[in-house]
Amino acid sequence: MPQMIVNGRKTDAISGQKLDVISPVDGAVFTQIPRGGEADVDLAVKAARIAAEGPWKKFTALERGRLLVKLSNLILENAEELSQLEARDTGKAISSARNDIQVMARYFEFYGTAADKVHGEVIPFLNGYSVQVIREPLGVTAHIIPWNYPAQMVGRSVAPALAMGNACVVKPAEDACLSVIRVAELGLEAGLPAGVFNVVTGLGEEAGAALSAHEDINFVTFTGSNEVGVLVQKAAAEHAVKCVLELGGKSAHVVFNDVNMKLAIPAIVKGILANAGQTCTAGSRLLIQRDVFNEFMDLVVEEFSKTRVGTPEMDLHCGPLINKSQFDRVNRYLEQGKKDGLKILAQGQIDPGVPETGYYVTPTLFVADNHDSDLLMQEIFGPVLVALAFDTEEQAVQLANITDYGLMAAVWSENGGIQQRVAKEMKCGQVYINGFGAGGGVELPFGGVKRSGHGREKGLVALEEMSTTKTIIHYHG
Ligand code: NAP
Ligand code: MG
Repeated sequence: MPQMIVNGRKTDAISGQKLDVISPVDGAVFTQIPRGGEADVDLAVKAARIAAEGPWKKFTALERGRLLVKLSNLILENAEELSQLEARDTGKAISSARNDIQVMARYFEFYGTAADKVHGEVIPFLNGYSVQVIREPLGVTAHIIPWNYPAQMVGRSVAPALAMGNACVVKPAEDACLSVIRVAELGLEAGLPAGVFNVVTGLGEEAGAALSAHEDINFVTFTGSNEVGVLVQKAAAEHAVKCVLELGGKSAHVVFNDVNMKLAIPAIVKGILANAGQTCTAGSRLLIQRDVFNEFMDLVVEEFSKTRVGTPEMDLHCGPLINKSQFDRVNRYLEQGKKDGLKILAQGQIDPGVPETGYYVTPTLFVADNHDSDLLMQEIFGPVLVALAFDTEEQAVQLANITDYGLMAAVWSENGGIQQRVAKEMKCGQVYINGFGAGGGVELPFGGVKRSGHGREKGLVALEEMSTTKTIIHYHG
């Protein structure tokens, strides 16, 4: 049975309570996890504090970095086991799970090799003074992780925090936490001191709420829904704790008349089907300039209709959704689309061999004649793509920016002027030109504006987010 990792030890919840873990593949319970609560969180935060102020503080940046690279190598050595765990827990296709584990390893490698390259500054000041700006860890960092990409997210969040010398307490989602537990175990094997990388499993409203409200954390990073993100920020604000929030999106593809269709269409279809659409950066809106609309959509329909949904082992375009509540939610949106007068242009197919009790939904491509429907305004978190025609560049920009979200966008055009103007007008944290990827590589700064949140992860900027500066002003005459 999976256990939590607190202060370097595998442990059950103090209460002894457990939660059933349900497989999205067939809706059946396949294991149990500890139902950690406030007391478990408190132990983990105390252990992290002791580690951060004690043994972990004594490590040089080079030593911390080497440990993270060692962890990266251990992840690679155990990649198949981790991939199977991730696929089973989340329901995603096995090849996607394998990719996620490679990305997780890459995060620990990237930040491990960057740890000793974060240098301070010397500032010219008044005569007789020397001024240094040095970077220091924040202390105890809290990490609330969602269920859509647990392995990637734990790498993205924990690796830079550890690289900067923080000690972490991670609360993964109850629906998918097995790879997170396993990587913390591998962290111990790599030689991380006790208390540096803690994992407390449990319910969001219990363990998650207790962690974000804990008076002795120094930072919290959260990825998930807008609603819970706001709760986390409020809880952190009680103790003036900094937070980074990544709260999803409603990303638009903006396709102009001169689009390279061969390049665009596979990327656009993949961009909504990856992880069954349960991706914060999913390209869920398809805005197409009117002259090319019909020709372009014929090809999108052809590509979209090939979509197949199945179990992780079938390794198709989409797996099931994570749980019953997401399944119901996406089906509600599909019904609403029909009520709102949207037309279905294409659908994928669920493989007849999938268990009937799993959470499989039919990928659906809609076309709309205005931007009013909730299907175009809200994050669906499922394999649902809605297309809409536009006339001018100005209108395209207005529509792309019309939602409350601002995470990612893509511009498809061969015209350099359009590419640059539109990319610069997009209100979001990342813009692709003639390409599309889920938040891009590990190296690329990522995060939202507007209701998609604030703060940046990935790239070197995460090392700044997860540390603080101290300015030393020395008068020596
Ligand atoms: P969620 O409730 O926001 O969950 C995200 C994380 O927050 C999980 O670890 C969750 O734990 C934890 N949590 C829940 N309530 C909490 C609280 N009161 N205090 C602190 N932490 C808490 O997301 P969800 O319900 O799983 O999904 C709902 C919608 O959120 C999705 O349809 C999608 O729109 C969005 N979402 C976005 C992302 C993203 O990548 N941006 C990821 C996931 C979901 P438990 O899961 O154990 O409750
Ligand atoms: Mg699960």
